[in-house]
Amino acid sequence: MLKKTRALLSLLVPQSWLSTAYITERLSILMDDPATCEHDWYVVAGILDTVELQVQCMKCGTYSEVPEPTQEEWNACAGAMENPYPWEDTSRIRYYQTDEAAH
Ligand SMILES: [Zn+2]
Repeated sequence: MLKKTRALLSLLVPQSWLSTAYITERLSILMDDPATCEHDWYVVAGILDTVELQVQCMKCGTYSEVPEPTQEEWNACAGAMENPYPWEDTSRIRYYQTDEAAH
């Protein structure tokens, strides 16, 4: 609770030098806890370097990727940055694959 109050206060500080990363970090504290979140994944971008779909949970802010998209899926993600759309197939999201390996 205190953590959230502090995060709110730091968001109200009108200092333009605050980096985007800093603000993103503060925002993520305000969102759901990733450990207990029932993730709600949205495709938010395509990663050109690795040809993967970038997905983000809209509830807790966790990022992950969907490796090896089909050509159709890859084409569809072109407008994802402006218009994120839901991703249903969680079995293909890397988050779950690495999570399992880590335990
Ligand atoms: Zn989540």
